[in-house]
Amino acid sequence: MPLNVLFAARPERWETYETPLRAALKAAGVDAHLAQDIAPETVDYIVYAPNSTLQDFTPYTRAKAVLNLWAGVEGIVGNETLKIPLARMVDPGLTRGMVEWVTGHVLRHHLGMDTDIQRSDAKWEPRTLPLAEERSVVVLGLGALGAAVCTALLGLGFRVSGWSRSPKDIAGVTCFHGPDGLNTALARAEIAVLLLPDTPATQNTLNAQTLAGMPQGAFIINPGRGPLIDDDALLAALDTGQIAHATLDVFRVEPLPKDHPFWTHPQVTVTPHIAAETRAITASRVIVENICRSEAGQPLLHLVDRALGY
Ligand code: NAP
Repeated sequence: MPLNVLFAARPERWETYETPLRAALKAAGVDAHLAQDIAPETVDYIVYAPNSTLQDFTPYTRAKAVLNLWAGVEGIVGNETLKIPLARMVDPGLTRGMVEWVTGHVLRHHLGMDTDIQRSDAKWEPRTLPLAEERSVVVLGLGALGAAVCTALLGLGFRVSGWSRSPKDIAGVTCFHGPDGLNTALARAEIAVLLLPDTPATQNTLNAQTLAGMPQGAFIINPGRGPLIDDDALLAALDTGQIAHATLDVFRVEPLPKDHPFWTHPQVTVTPHIAAETRAITASRVIVENICRSEAGQPLLHLVDRALGY
């Protein structure tokens, strides 16, 4: 009997994922019927994007797991109809994309590239650029993405610190954890990179009080989630110069509403949630590996802790 694998995402994603998923299933020797429409009571696994129309899992009585295509799970983790295990996406392709995006924006701010590029008055004013070893970068969130970003920044020579919920030991990274560690970490954040999940405990991690505790003229780079930052507090800190610039990829409401002050603030860079996308070929292998693990009675990789919310 083939396994019934339901693909529950926006219909246009099917074109991207069908071939890689079939190839990954075949490569792993999994006999599966993969489709966008399968009788709910016969589905074994659900490959899922939280913006799918599937929001009620009650009829999926035989399903063994929901395998999320996204790293972020805030759109599904609180779904009370979901009673089966939920795995989030940790995809090597997505991780590489995030490392490249963050590294690019860290270097942009570290080197003051905007200053050099945007000058239009024909003044020739050479300056000595700082070296990475003179710059302290703090990464909030030391999970799959945060840890990879730390390693890349270390490789460039930055002084790297990080903050997480539980204690971490990452070679070369000064690690802080828990509520008490946040202020200590932020006090050294000349550049702060936010790679936390959106949970009740992480919302407004950057607020008036924590922003005030950062070095004056610090830079913020947020590819995590919009609710990690109190928007009004950030705008106030930008206006006083406490924060020199914020590069924001994610927002409380997406697309960012046309009248939001972030669009026009001279010290804000808005990018349209493009920092890192799940890559179909590598992600399909991760999905199929989890199906194989589940069928073999092994624990799922990247299992979400529903109580913690990530
Ligand atoms: P992850 O592996 O689950 O890592 C999350 C990290 O956040 C962990 O280090 C965790 O600490 C820490 N954390 C969670 N709650 C915390 C708290 N209350 N206090 C301090 N630290 C806390 O997640 P990931 O795969 O790295 O992804 C991180 C986030 O990036 C995703 O949730 C998503 O929102 C975002 N993302 C954005 C894009 C984009 O294109 N913009 C793409 C992909 C992902 P522990 O290690 O102690 O558990």
